[in-house]
Amino acid sequence: GYRLRGSVTVQRIGVMGGTFDPIHHGHLVAANEVAERYGLDEVVFVPTGQPWQKDTAVSPAEDRYLMTVLATLSNPRFQVSRVDIDRSGPTYTVDTLRDLRRGYGPNTELFFITGADALDKILSWKDADEVFSLAHFVGVTRPGFALSDSHLPANSVSLVQVPAMAISSTDCRMRVATGKHIWYLVPDGVVQYIAKQGLYRHQVQ
Ligand code: ATP
Ligand code: MG
Repeated sequence: GYRLRGSVTVQRIGVMGGTFDPIHHGHLVAANEVAERYGLDEVVFVPTGQPWQKDTAVSPAEDRYLMTVLATLSNPRFQVSRVDIDRSGPTYTVDTLRDLRRGYGPNTELFFITGADALDKILSWKDADEVFSLAHFVGVTRPGFALSDSHLPANSVSLVQVPAMAISSTDCRMRVATGKHIWYLVPDGVVQYIAKQGLYRHQVQ
């Protein structure tokens, strides 16, 4: 992972942003595939604060944070950051990347990992130009969405094929709300956390 640039050691850090309501194996497989492909030293999962593009209510940040910690616990290269949930106001990726850059220091390359659906929306993000200067973007395949970088600046994005995981947090929430199981869609600890806290039981959608 660590590369020498001149006499300076550069660390390569993956950034996986998401609502993680709940975190599922689609997120984990995507992060791990990109980490292997790019020789990343670490992938940091960053649960959003108040998501500005979601109309529906999301679970409390602390629940989403704890589920993300439980899901990533067994992998020494996976970390979880509180930068977005500790910042007040809506989450913008430009702020996430600025905060992480500050935290990791100058000799760091950031690789922001997004699924095909999220990659489609990047140009609508706040300060899109600065966003591209702060991180290299890695778009990953996701069942049901076409992966394309034709709308994005040249050389700012790499596309990576990952094992197809037809899992979404929305489907997990709906399953719990309708009394169905979510075993093997999310890590065991997350299944148990959701049951223990009674999350998603009364979800309408
Ligand atoms: P929701 O249904 O609530 O939108 P989600 O499953 O899409 O949840 P998010 O937290 O919105 O999960 O996604 C975080 C990031 O992970 C996004 O970049 C998204 O594209 C990506 N992602 C989510 N699920 C998958 C999957 N099954 N395969 C590949 N990428 C995924
Ligand atoms: Mg989503």
